[in-house]
Amino acid sequence: MSFFEVHDPIFSTYVLGNAPVKQLATGFDWVEGPVWFGDANCLLFSDIPNNKIMRWTPDAGISIYRQPSNFSNGHTRDLQGRLISCEHGTRRVTRTEYDGSITVIADSFEGKRFNSPNDVVVKSDGSIWFSDPHYGIMTNYEGFKAEQEIPCNVYQISPDGQSIDAVITDMACPNGLAFSPDEKQLYVADTGAMFDENADRHIRCYDVANGSTSNGQHFHTVDAGASDGFRLDTDGNIWTSAADGVHCINPDGKLLGKILVPELVSNVCFGGRAKQQLFITATTSIYAVNLNRQGAQTP
Ligand code: MG
Repeated sequence: MSFFEVHDPIFSTYVLGNAPVKQLATGFDWVEGPVWFGDANCLLFSDIPNNKIMRWTPDAGISIYRQPSNFSNGHTRDLQGRLISCEHGTRRVTRTEYDGSITVIADSFEGKRFNSPNDVVVKSDGSIWFSDPHYGIMTNYEGFKAEQEIPCNVYQISPDGQSIDAVITDMACPNGLAFSPDEKQLYVADTGAMFDENADRHIRCYDVANGSTSNGQHFHTVDAGASDGFRLDTDGNIWTSAADGVHCINPDGKLLGKILVPELVSNVCFGGRAKQQLFITATTSIYAVNLNRQGAQTP
């Protein structure tokens, strides 16, 4: 059985025919938020319902990085390499300092609590952009059930950390997000209202200039499930989660191919020695595959 499905011939050059899609660990409940630390040779990821951040290393396998994790979801690293985390339980975004202490960098907007920060990305000017859908407060499964105080928006924390702006306010439930390699575009997944089969689920593409977004356009709708989280490679291809695996979409919005994964995928990140290994969080398991592609952005 092939691990790959080719929809455009170029995809054959992006994958390595003999590289397996390998399960690295399993037994979790809902994994998300993969982030690679090359300096520590490890992957961190969230097991949201179990309130843990897990660590995987090639040599030692799985261990617990943080418990409780405040039901953390998405992660990235800032320009100084520090861990940035979205937390459902505390409805905030935090930074883990080099000494291990935790600094809250955003927990409210105009006096109202965020819903449940979901995914986060850092721009090269140091600004931190995160999505805030309501999934983590709808039930007690991935956080604490609570009333929604504000709409589901995307926010930007300024490079100096002093101000927070709502930069996308026209989505039902913004989720995964990532910049194009030149940072002129911001891709954002809208996963729609949970329990609403008719909700629009797609990736939208916004123009970015002077710290704000405009001209949001439909970019791509995956043909299986919904796009939750994604990363880009150095040529601007989008590697997005879907129900049947990871889909590779080119900058024109065309499906080039799929990495088939036997569980529903939530998110991905590039890592490994040459940033050519794609780590995949998929429901109860972590998978990885080596590609002939390199990740574009901070993990
Ligand atoms: Mg997500």
